[in-house]
Amino acid sequence: MNTEIYLDANATCTVLPAAVDAALDALGPRFGNPSSSHAAGLRAKVILDEARACARRVVGAGDGRLMFTSGATEGIQTAVLSVLWSVRERQLAGQPCGRLLVYGATEHKAVPESLAHWNRLLGTGLELAALPVDGEGRHRLDMLRQLAPDAAMVCTMAANNETGTVSDLDGIARVLNEANSGALWMVDCVQALGKLPLALASTRIDYAPFSGHKLCAPKGIGMLYVRAGAPFTPLVAGGGQESGQRSGTENMAGIAAFGAVLKALEEGQVFRGHDAMVVSRDRVVQSLREAFPGIVFNTPLEHALPTTINFSVPGLASRDVLDVFDAAGIRVSAGSACSASKAQPSYVLQAMGLPLWRAASAVRLSFGPQADEAFIDAACERIRRCSQALRADPLALAPSAHHGLLQVNAEGSAGWLVFDADDKACVAIDAPAPAASRIAALAKARGYTVRAILGDAKGCDALCSALEEQGVPFHAGWPVDVSAVALGDGRSAQAIRIGAQWLANVGGSYLLGAADGETLPHVEYAFVGAAQSPCACACADTILCRNADDDALGWSGMQTQAVDEHEMHLSAAALDDFLRAHPNAVLVDVREAAEHAAGPVTLHGHVARNVPLSRLAEQASAWLREGGEPLVFLCRSGNRSAKAARQLRRHGFAQAWHVAGGVALAV
Ligand code: PLP
Repeated sequence: MNTEIYLDANATCTVLPAAVDAALDALGPRFGNPSSSHAAGLRAKVILDEARACARRVVGAGDGRLMFTSGATEGIQTAVLSVLWSVRERQLAGQPCGRLLVYGATEHKAVPESLAHWNRLLGTGLELAALPVDGEGRHRLDMLRQLAPDAAMVCTMAANNETGTVSDLDGIARVLNEANSGALWMVDCVQALGKLPLALASTRIDYAPFSGHKLCAPKGIGMLYVRAGAPFTPLVAGGGQESGQRSGTENMAGIAAFGAVLKALEEGQVFRGHDAMVVSRDRVVQSLREAFPGIVFNTPLEHALPTTINFSVPGLASRDVLDVFDAAGIRVSAGSACSASKAQPSYVLQAMGLPLWRAASAVRLSFGPQADEAFIDAACERIRRCSQALRADPLALAPSAHHGLLQVNAEGSAGWLVFDADDKACVAIDAPAPAASRIAALAKARGYTVRAILGDAKGCDALCSALEEQGVPFHAGWPVDVSAVALGDGRSAQAIRIGAQWLANVGGSYLLGAADGETLPHVEYAFVGAAQSPCACACADTILCRNADDDALGWSGMQTQAVDEHEMHLSAAALDDFLRAHPNAVLVDVREAAEHAAGPVTLHGHVARNVPLSRLAEQASAWLREGGEPLVFLCRSGNRSAKAARQLRRHGFAQAWHVAGGVALAV
């Protein structure tokens, strides 16, 4: 198994060993409540006082407030509540207070959501105004100039979590001053800590939230700086902890750990300086350029944190890169961790006006200032391995096989590529339009001719254009050099030969099977488009391939049966016993070929064989017909493997299981 190369530091970081020790100290020997006046309490209070004093020095808090919070989201709430409550008071007193809540269009969602929430709750009735950014992700100062006179609050992050873009805070301050704006200014400093110099009290900034887990402290601890004299209202009232600014018994383990991180930052030995980070970044960038010709960086590196690289590779969706990186043990993300589960193009890149393909294929790679040379070497080496893996052939065949069936899905539609390796020819059926350039690139890379493009008209048009663009020979529609073949039921139909197979056209459904002279004695696959009922001439074991990527994976057998989901799940803990009890079990890795190439899987001495989900219909035909050994499917997270096991069981193959939770839990 690969050692993990964690390059997702903007989502969260590994905890510094000194921080772990400090947390254990606060949980163990110095477990006291810092508010207690006895010795145990006093010993704990020292931790709190020292952490705060260090934090004040690190951020340059001057005579401002500095309180510990549960994280940046809480710090943001507190700042927003403080501003809006002072707005409310001024509204009630009939004083002017501005009418706009201005926030950068690329802020973390915690900012606009908090503004909207408290504006609604307090009935302040201000208007939220997104401050646009330019193509490099920097705030449009010309727009700010227009908004500033009417702004009650302005929120502009110090550095963006997705792109690393560093804001021009001096420029923003200048505009606010020139406009004589009374706006209170919050700067989300989450991604700046440890990466940019901070001297908050010497700036115009009124509120600055921080989060511990973005710099090697645990999750659930953060802090908020408030400029001396800026309005302040506690978010949490109660026992008066944190000088009444944030009640509730302190998270002492978190504060101790955060304190240890801040101390390390102040001492300057663990965390590397800006120039060293730039050298590391440039090496990673170089290895990415070599690995992915055509790569584009989504923000100019000279305006970005030296620890964040956001890039897109033409022809590769974010998911493709992430899956291969993950298989190789490199952890990166497509954007912010909060939106990782929503497979949507990045709103940050869209706000920058980047073309949709770049927003939909963006990958964020981020390391912390603690990353040393050895780590960067390992990261570069692993990136090289990924680029080789991405060259793995999705049309690879078992040594004895000549033809294959690849499923190409996109946006809920399923398409099919019937191909013959000897002839280097393929036929596309129901190709989904959004998958057109992917199919064309594949055909071009493998030197295939597209003999026919059948099915869905929109998909056909898109594929023809993509093939033309890429210079791949193709024939649109049903070719002219057709033959008449006899079908198994005595009827005859027009058919084309693809290697040793016939593809027959029976009223717009396409039947595929091994050729026997001029006959197609047995229909192995029927491509039936949107039809729900099997077409004429199908055999009992024909696989019906549809044009929708639905719950049934886009294909099904002639008969299905109910599946007891519990029976097919194998927990990682149960796997060892299962494999011992079934020594003939076959592990099947259903990840795509590139993922398998990047990180082949061996579990308990069993080497997994690769049958990508996109080739499952091809392989399942034989499994369903012939039966055989128990199959244990596996994949990255357990999603795709569950689909494969369920699909086989649905069609009567009872010996199908999958590793629940994915390989990450099993190795
Ligand atoms: N602001 C930025 C820029 C962030 O990156 C994050 C975390 O992703 C947050 C705010 C929220 O921080 P927390 O998780 O501490 O609430």
